Amino acid sequence: MREWRRANRRQLCGGCNRQVALDDPILVLQIGSVEKIRCALCAGPAPPDLPAVIVTAVILPFDFARSGVRWRENRMDPPFGALPPERAK
Ligand SMILES: [Zn+2]
Repeated sequence: MREWRRANRRQLCGGCNRQVALDDPILVLQIGSVEKIRCALCAGPAPPDLPAVIVTAVILPFDFARSGVRWRENRMDPPFGALPPERAK
């Protein structure tokens, strides 16, 4: 199977070993259960109507500063591994 897609993560091209950035067009060659990719420079121009990458998961950053403020304001024990308030300044 040969199919043009957009890269949903950083990958290496199997032809030139160049790093393919997120959302770059790639040609996916599938032989059985093995998938190989080729960048647009190796496999020729990608179709212009290639759909964009669909993001399926969003990872929210954990705000360590805010979580520290909360236990200091509530006079709770610090979370495991956190510095006590007098040493955190
Ligand atoms: Zn390549």
